[in-house]
Amino acid sequence: MTVYSGPVFAMAAKQFGVIADYLAIPADERDRLLMPKRAITISCPIHRDDGSIAVFEGYRVQHHLTLGPTKGGTRFAPSVDLGEVAALAIWMSWKCALVGLPYGGAKGGIAVDPRAISKHELEALSRRYMQEMIPFVGPHVDVMAPDMGTNEQVMAWFMDTYSMYQGRTVTEIVTGKPVASGGTLGRREATGRGVAHLAKRVMNELAIDLSDATAVIQGFGNVGSYAALDLQRFGLKVIAVSDHSGALHRAEGLDIPALMRHTAEHGSIAGFSSELQCDPDSILTMECDVLVPAAMERVIDGGIAQQLRCRVLAEGANGPTTPDADLILEQRQDEIFLIPDILCNSGGVVVSYFEWVQDLQQLFWEEEEVMRREYQILDRAFDQMVIRAKRDGVPHRTAAMAIGVEKVRAAKNTRGLFP
Ligand code: NAD
Repeated sequence: MTVYSGPVFAMAAKQFGVIADYLAIPADERDRLLMPKRAITISCPIHRDDGSIAVFEGYRVQHHLTLGPTKGGTRFAPSVDLGEVAALAIWMSWKCALVGLPYGGAKGGIAVDPRAISKHELEALSRRYMQEMIPFVGPHVDVMAPDMGTNEQVMAWFMDTYSMYQGRTVTEIVTGKPVASGGTLGRREATGRGVAHLAKRVMNELAIDLSDATAVIQGFGNVGSYAALDLQRFGLKVIAVSDHSGALHRAEGLDIPALMRHTAEHGSIAGFSSELQCDPDSILTMECDVLVPAAMERVIDGGIAQQLRCRVLAEGANGPTTPDADLILEQRQDEIFLIPDILCNSGGVVVSYFEWVQDLQQLFWEEEEVMRREYQILDRAFDQMVIRAKRDGVPHRTAAMAIGVEKVRAAKNTRGLFP
């Protein structure tokens, strides 16, 4: 019996089973590695603008505390439930361990469509969520960050709420804050930049000419837009993007800075151009060199995996590819180079870690240093993944997750089981 359910948790558990079999982890150790340490469920009541009261369900799951505090984003989306949050927390653990951060994984969220409430209601909900979480979080216990549906402003409200209760400013309680409130230079761009950096690296290794290459991006939020911007800067044509409102296609390449200005003003790509509109369902299977899913999990299933026409699959989103699709990708690994999510989008948590370190030390770095160190960590983890995959003849996802799982397992085993 477990309180965690749903397709996303089932997927995280299934993936872990593959890794545990590959690493020959004994049956009695598996639950200790997989099952989250703590899950918190809360009700967040707020006053609506019309004077009525609305109650939203919120969650936080802390996967393990073996290596240090837990770390992970906060998602505001209608789909959020305990199982989804638990799966995302588990993936964060393998990701942090893969890139060598002193964190366990966590994730949280509220089941709400942030676009369907006013800014005032969003602030009330964000503050109430953090207030309810105060007994369970702390700069050395659990550090939150943004995820889908949250942003720098929400992180500033979280930090302010926590600080008001402590009676002093505690910037290190969350990362992904505005630079004006203790954030780091380069955090906003970090995840998308990391995705583009690794995609470029793979293209160079595959001898793909960047100036002749194309990219397609699903999701044009924080991750998707900055990935698109850097890929375009590297010389690629970003021929299609989509978001919750629709999709755009232009064979000569879309104007990404103009599209980013449009979404900043209007909240989505809708209204940018009626001529360039295309079918959002065609996005993932378009012919391109780099495909970046940067929206939801489980969008690439077995059927889509068969139809993919990209050379590099750079997973910006968490969990975009189902285990069924992984089996297909394994058969197609000579055609499609997979950069798995826990590596590909790890630039975000890497730079969040830098933000936490800077806040703790009150010593702030230049953006150039942030980026240099981010790329150094990503490149090292990439090398380790590729070497491991070649050595054992396993897919990239298996290699990357196994490195993460092994590190958590080694820490648990050397610390022992209390009492
Ligand atoms: P965001 O809220 O900034 O953007 C999400 C984007 O996805 C929006 O453009 C939205 O319109 C789009 N979208 C939603 N549903 C869609 C659909 N059905 N089809 C197409 N597009 C859709 O979120 P984000 O921070 O960019 O996160 C995106 C993904 O990246 C998530 O899986 C998140 O967990 C992951 N991620 C984010 C970070 C980070 O630093 N923000 C770090 C690592 C991983």
